[in-house]
Amino acid sequence: VKNKLSDNKYTPVAGLPELRDAIASYYQNYFHSGWIESGNVTVTAGAKPALTAVFMSLLNPGDEVIIPKPAWVSYQSEVEVAGGKAVFVETTKKFDLDVSAISNAITKKTKAIVINSPNNPTGKIYSRKPLDALAELVNLHDVTLVSDDIYSRLVYSELYLPLNSEIDPAKLVIVNGFSKSQALTGWRIGYCISSQDLQSKISSLLSHTNGNAPVTSQHAAIAALEREDEPEFLHDLVDKRDQAIKLLQDIDIVSFHEPEGGFYVFVDIRSFTNNSDQFCQDLLESKGVGVVPGEAFEMPGYIRISYATNSSTLSSGLKKMKEFIEESKS
Ligand code: PLP
Repeated sequence: VKNKLSDNKYTPVAGLPELRDAIASYYQNYFHSGWIESGNVTVTAGAKPALTAVFMSLLNPGDEVIIPKPAWVSYQSEVEVAGGKAVFVETTKKFDLDVSAISNAITKKTKAIVINSPNNPTGKIYSRKPLDALAELVNLHDVTLVSDDIYSRLVYSELYLPLNSEIDPAKLVIVNGFSKSQALTGWRIGYCISSQDLQSKISSLLSHTNGNAPVTSQHAAIAALEREDEPEFLHDLVDKRDQAIKLLQDIDIVSFHEPEGGFYVFVDIRSFTNNSDQFCQDLLESKGVGVVPGEAFEMPGYIRISYATNSSTLSSGLKKMKEFIEESKS
């Protein structure tokens, strides 16, 4: 304890050099992102502050950020707190990127486009063709692509397609963290990778607002990156995904697309109700089962179920949801 307590100094705002190096190497090893060096990395206390700092450093008041929906709940608030405006665009029926919808939404005020693959809430991994088209679109316009890669190691097949390497690195910001792929939510370590120019703006901002991420957590993050991969963790997640799918197939009014990564399934309940807020409230009160309403992701009529739990809880939760639907219908 004494040793740990003496590790009590501020670190550089952007993080310990060893951790920034380790993150740059991680990206080079896993995602072949050759341009990424330590100086492009800013470490933060979770991916949320990284995203907020990115938007605060990129946006002027009234600037627009295009976000394909369904979209993770916090992007809009993070954009708005930075004075920007979130502009939601549709994805395809299978929740893949619709690049023409993104292109049509670009205006003079557009500063950034946010993507998140594997996606929260759908588990969708965006396909190669739209990703390539998106890279081309970004290269043509004066916009920055913010790629939230937080589920990037939680993929169930060879399907994961990192961003087109043709994209101009000066127009790309990658956000990632240790909460999902390394399952270290409470340690609060995230990071962003950007051009060095943007990196120094982000660091200046953080030097006044947050300072460095906690030093103990930074050491834990270094240890996590040195740790061997644990394929069992992923196998277990695939088993749970399959278990969730089987149980959901047993509920006749719901439909969904099989998640390809992450740990959520986004379920269409519109043939039962469009008011998913009410559905979630009633399900929680009558059966004690918690799921998230689609309204949080700009998609009423859907619910998000997390299967990152033990299989008996998953099974009893989904069986109770089936009971709830059957009782409500009768
Ligand atoms: N991005 C997405 C898509 C998420 O789902 C989450 C967490 O739920 C985050 C970012 C934030 O993660 P962190 O715990 O690192 O702040």
